[in-house]
Amino acid sequence: MTYDRLVCANCAAPVAEGRCPVCRANRERLQQEGPFAGLNPAALLALLVVLVAALALLAHQTA
Ligand SMILES: [Zn+2]
Repeated sequence: MTYDRLVCANCAAPVAEGRCPVCRANRERLQQEGPFAGLNPAALLALLVVLVAALALLAHQTA
């Protein structure tokens, strides 16, 4: 999980431990399924490469 190393600004403990209400709120928010919830960094990088390639292609076509 991406929030493993997050440190709480309220209690300075790892958010994943849920020691205070702020931790628990953040943990719940981060655990919710978002558009990138199932993606690992490699998948995000691949997505970025595809996006840049698409933009480059578009720029080449319009120039
Ligand atoms: Zn906390």
